[in-house]
Amino acid sequence: MATNQIYSLDSSLPVCETRIRYVLKSVSFIRTPHYDMDHTDAGYYNIMNSFAVNPNSEFTAIHHFNSKHSSNGVRKLGGFGPGPWVTTWNDWNNIYPSDPNYNSRNLAHELFHAKGLSHAWIIDDGCLDTKKNNNGWCDGSNNVMDYNCYHQFNLTPCQICRLQSWLDLRTQYIRQEGGCPPPISYFDIPQRVCRGINSPFYPEIYLQGSACTNENQFRIHISKVPHVGSQSSMPNTIFQSWYSGQVGHIGLKQWTGYQFGSGVYRIELTVKHTDCANEDSMVKWVTVELCPEEGIPANCCLSAAFIYPNPSGEDAVIHYTLEEEANLLIDMIGINLPTPITLQSTRWSAIGNYELPLNLSPFPDGAYQVRIFLNQQEIIPINLVKQQ
Ligand SMILES: [Zn+2]
Repeated sequence: MATNQIYSLDSSLPVCETRIRYVLKSVSFIRTPHYDMDHTDAGYYNIMNSFAVNPNSEFTAIHHFNSKHSSNGVRKLGGFGPGPWVTTWNDWNNIYPSDPNYNSRNLAHELFHAKGLSHAWIIDDGCLDTKKNNNGWCDGSNNVMDYNCYHQFNLTPCQICRLQSWLDLRTQYIRQEGGCPPPISYFDIPQRVCRGINSPFYPEIYLQGSACTNENQFRIHISKVPHVGSQSSMPNTIFQSWYSGQVGHIGLKQWTGYQFGSGVYRIELTVKHTDCANEDSMVKWVTVELCPEEGIPANCCLSAAFIYPNPSGEDAVIHYTLEEEANLLIDMIGINLPTPITLQSTRWSAIGNYELPLNLSPFPDGAYQVRIFLNQQEIIPINLVKQQ
């Protein structure tokens, strides 16, 4: 983007890249009686001169608990962001009422100051698309550069372009490796994906990637492994491919065409930029397993199950005792009955003793198996012989 772009309401101007990545390198907790953030005694600068880390190449953000800033005994909240360091202060954990995200919003506001943004209400903030308001607390706009108590973090297109301009001009604050900002692989994926016992469908597995302009290529490598934590070996690979662009929201089944049956899958996402040598990878594991319907306990609950008489003639009785409520399916198969027939199917059966009559007259003599499926998971087989 041209650094001298005119920031205006002209909708024909290109929109700048909206994603800016912060890489958190370290966190320190410092307890000291010797410093205070009170700007009247240059406390900001004392602290930053003492604690800022690599101030020529990195940002330091200090959050000051129990600040001396107070009015009428109530500690005040606020921040200061001259860059390349920023401070925020607040009471120990006195989050601004009704806004649990206050501290993070405060930090974002100061970081944007440090990267060249002025308050949105200022006439000469360099952006025509920021609302000029009266700067009253909670009476401005939902722009993050206003003083406001709203939850939004909004920036205007102009503000985003100004941030990118600032970054273009000040690459000393960006950690470079071989002239390239570092690519970082990051994605979310469920740890466990259910596949219904009786479902003919394989589940979709959604991967949500996170990307910025440091990357323009990504590779997905999927392998089936023995257990969570197992690393991959090539014979296990079921899918691997590079793609152009930035990783986003991906349905792995649709993406790969692979049917994810039960098992553990190792998912590796590698990202890089075509102009740079470095790449970065992240690995997570997904377990696909047979699961009962939502809300049904996995293990159950049959204390007795038998058929009498056995061997049977024309008529028999299936006896079973449920110790807990259960989802129940009873069917029967056999050499003369290759396609099972359903004898009983209930979504919920109450606790109790059951006597299920079984009319065997339609079936030829022979060996059969009655199967009781509990909660679509546990199978109790009972062998049955019919002989006249
Ligand atoms: Zn401010």
